[in-house]
Formats: sequence, C-alpha cells, structure tokens
Amino acid sequence: MTGAQGSIPLCVPRDRAKQAAGAGARWDRVQRCFFWDTGIADIAENAPVLAFLPFRFRPDRRPPYVRPWMVPQSLWGWNLRAVLHREDWDRIRRDAYRRAGYRCRICGGIGPAHPVEADEGWAYDDTRFVQVLRGVIALCPDCHAVRHWGRSMATGKEQHVLRWLAWINGWTPAQARACADEAMALWHWRSGHTGWTCDIGWVEKVFGVQPVADAMVRAAATQQGLVALARQSRDGEMR
Ligand SMILES: [Zn+2]
Repeated sequence: MTGAQGSIPLCVPRDRAKQAAGAGARWDRVQRCFFWDTGIADIAENAPVLAFLPFRFRPDRRPPYVRPWMVPQSLWGWNLRAVLHREDWDRIRRDAYRRAGYRCRICGGIGPAHPVEADEGWAYDDTRFVQVLRGVIALCPDCHAVRHWGRSMATGKEQHVLRWLAWINGWTPAQARACADEAMALWHWRSGHTGWTCDIGWVEKVFGVQPVADAMVRAAATQQGLVALARQSRDGEMR
C-alpha cells in the first residue's frame, strides 16, 4: 500500500511537472512520481498541490472515497471498449491515465503488473432508468476491483477487495461488508428493470467520437457473453 500520511503520491500529468515542483512537491526518481512530504495540514493553502491530490487525501472529501458501483445487468454490454472504435477507446483511456500522471485518482497507488486501469464513471437516474456517462478516470487495479464488486466476487477476490474497501475508507470490516451488501441490493433492484438506456454523450462532447455503427448489436452480444460468464462462475461456486 502506498500513500502513508506525510508522504502522499500526487497525480501529476507530465506537462504540469514544473507546476508541481514549483509548489513544493518532491520528484522521486525511482518511483517516477511526485510526492507531498510536508503534511496534509499545509495542503489546504496550496492550490496547485490540491489539484494533484488523490481523492482519499483531499481535505474537502469524506469517505467513502470508493465503493462498489455496479452496472445493471441489462446494460453490461454498454462498456466503452465494446461500443467504440478500438482507437477511440484507446485515446480516451490513455488520456485518463495521462491526466492522472499514471496514478490512481482515488488512492494514488499503482498496480504491480500495470499501474492503472480506466473506469467509466456512470451516474444513474433511477426514475427514468438512464445510465449516464460522467467521465473516465484512472484507478489502480485494487480500487477498480472495488467498483466492480460483482465481478470481483465472481473471480474469487472477495476477501481481498473487502479489505481494500475497509482500508481506503478507514472502515471496520463490518462497515465494508455492509457497504458491499448495500451496493449489491441496489444492483439487484436496478437489474430488476429491463428498460434501462445508456447515454454516452460525454464521449462525443469531450472527444468528438461516436459509437460504432453496430453498437447495439455489439453491446447485446457483449452483454450475453458476460451474463453467460457470470452464470458459469456462479455454477462453479455451487459445485
Ligand atoms: Zn487506488
């Protein structure tokens, strides 16, 4: 785990390195990352550093910094990887990595095999049943596994992810479990509605890209594949 109090990793895009150094951040050559060493109390007055802080350390944020946030089952196929041209999705996810300085926006950490992954920030309108894309951010594999709690359970990572959820938010194991159970109940409720639609207008507005012509077909095929996988893993557990 990275980011002990007193030495906080910062999400600094390469083109803002001078700004970070000028604001008093320390560049660590080995870890190839800027750190803030002089305590959280000093940060509130330091606007440039504040902008680079992972959410977990921001004085204006409160837990939960990350929590399970699962896509209703009927929309499983509507991930950007499935419905955009490959090169468009690559551009969008790499932009998220670059903007975060290849660090997790929530905890500032990185993964052992690859530093960060792209997470789609969905908002839910539970009255009109619309899933709206708000943005794409870089997360370390552990924080990302929290967001995709259902998949993490299906792939045997349940205990690890629960520990991470507790640690990140400063919770007891029971609090982490309660949060995960609540998220699962919400997911079941949302998945009980089949009339969900998905609004990815954000990618067009910000990146000027459109879904592929056969996006509906691809989303449906991806969704069916993921449902079959989930069923398999559930059957596997029962055996
Ligand atoms: Zn993280």
